[in-house]
Amino acid sequence: MDSQDFFEKIKEAELILVGLGEAFDGTGLLGQDPEYRTGCGILKEEGLSWLLPGWNEYCLRQRGDKRIEKALERLDALLEGKNYFGVSVSTNSSIAGRKRMVMACGSTIRKQCAEGCEEALQIMSEEDRAALESFYCGLAEGKRSGNPYLPGRCPKCGGKLVLNNVYAENYNEKGYLDQWGLYMKWLQGTLNRRLLVLELGVGMQFPSVIRWPFEKAAFFNRKAFFCRVNDKLYQMTKELAEKGCGISEDAVDWLARL
Ligand SMILES: [Zn+2]
Repeated sequence: MDSQDFFEKIKEAELILVGLGEAFDGTGLLGQDPEYRTGCGILKEEGLSWLLPGWNEYCLRQRGDKRIEKALERLDALLEGKNYFGVSVSTNSSIAGRKRMVMACGSTIRKQCAEGCEEALQIMSEEDRAALESFYCGLAEGKRSGNPYLPGRCPKCGGKLVLNNVYAENYNEKGYLDQWGLYMKWLQGTLNRRLLVLELGVGMQFPSVIRWPFEKAAFFNRKAFFCRVNDKLYQMTKELAEKGCGISEDAVDWLARL
């Protein structure tokens, strides 16, 4: 399917369901960088995986890599004026702030109690961000230096504060559930309407959030069309072969090129 065909699909669609995947974390390109990989290794070994989303963003910033922001701007332009809803398993905070978007795996914009107490969920402050920045600086030099935990303590249990994302040991899902409720409502209204399912760079890390339910939504809707963009996992299922297409390209590059 070329760009023109795709624009036609957007135009025809009454509703657009968008899935943003791991490609928007930027880990593909970053993964080729030994410094980045060393940092990831330290975070995993030290039980600090909840910092991985912040570490990804820090490394992208350090490299001045704006590819993902540009791709998201392009997506916004494509969706302008359309009735859409987006689901993200990427934790990139550039995705946050969009009204019709749910970030099911969390991000770097909230902090939570390490023990998962619901009461402790808060938006990150400037002070919180600055504290992490100095920790990332050390990590960039290949070492764990200073205290990685966020300033303050949980008001309920006195526990440490960590970033609110799926990589936290006790992920507090309250951070996204309100948006998830809106998404479920929106999804119910898609049946038998011309639905374009646009799955962008979604891998197999969390298939039950986007891949499988999106396939199901397209399968049960007679007027659906499924467009899957992925550099490796672009194949369509047999059931959707007639009403979908797989595009073998990195989703971030593909959006930028459209
Ligand atoms: Zn607590």
